[in-house]
Amino acid sequence: MIDHQAEMPPHGSPVVGIDLGGTWLRAAAFDPAGSIVRRGRVTTDRDAGPSRVVDQIVALVCEVVVSPTEAAAAPSVAVIGVPGTVDPRSGVVHAAANLAEWKEVPLRQMLEAQLGCPCVVENDANVAALAEYRRGTGRGVANFAYITVSTGIGAGLILDNHLYRGSVGGAGEFGHIVTIPDGPLCHCGNRGCINAIASGDGIASAAGAESAEEVVRAAAAGDAKSQGVLDAAARYLGIALGGLINLLALNAVALGGGVFGAGDSFWNVMVAAVAEGSFPATRAHCRIRRAELTSDLGLLGAFELTREGPLTGGEDRGASGSEA
Ligand SMILES: [Zn+2]
Repeated sequence: MIDHQAEMPPHGSPVVGIDLGGTWLRAAAFDPAGSIVRRGRVTTDRDAGPSRVVDQIVALVCEVVVSPTEAAAAPSVAVIGVPGTVDPRSGVVHAAANLAEWKEVPLRQMLEAQLGCPCVVENDANVAALAEYRRGTGRGVANFAYITVSTGIGAGLILDNHLYRGSVGGAGEFGHIVTIPDGPLCHCGNRGCINAIASGDGIASAAGAESAEEVVRAAAAGDAKSQGVLDAAARYLGIALGGLINLLALNAVALGGGVFGAGDSFWNVMVAAVAEGSFPATRAHCRIRRAELTSDLGLLGAFELTREGPLTGGEDRGASGSEA
């Protein structure tokens, strides 16, 4: 079913990339070379449930595939990145924490019925990792991880030059590696996930603040408790990152996201702590960089996913069993 990823777009029918975020819903139509020709965005109606959001997506896609001077062109394929747990084979979104009522949503089926074109559903961090691998810091890097640290922590893995999805598409959940047993409660239900410690939400909650920005401001003004929260978050993040580098012998890691706006100190503490969680020889072969692409990551990655070919690396040998 997912083989349509490998199909070439018919002439004149644009590839459409969609980036479904908790705040913004964006879409763009691409030319065959992968440049954005038209784009649009609306505020995601995140509290209204899946049907309403699907209507928003369809309306936005229709907008970006039609220009004032051209006739409507149905997309050749639409690729959507979703902030949640996704099975790209079935196109079902199992859960999306920031979107109300998103549980077991057959998103691909819903979109294909309304858009009349093949659709591909993928985790948003995987989409971003692919963009960074093809067009950013990860260019030419065979074994690469992209990690975003903002409100939450997301990650995508490129292993042996392919997006790695794991057994049911759930690979790359770096944010939910438990770093402190019995630590702060994570929205996934476990305690002490690195997401609950070093994400924007985790930092704010540890400091008893409204937002991570508030913690950063307080630390900059000399508040020792706030500085301590930031240092601890950065250190645990670095240790977890060291474990990831050890596990996969990565050639490079790119990190992006709002939390790095906390300044050089956060970054430096994190990088130093990588040594606490990794072997010197493995670490020496892994570059740790800031992500290059800050905007359009989700849209560009959606286009790049159409070049990725059929799903590889994670399918069960008896895959027919899961399709039956
Ligand atoms: Zn968690």
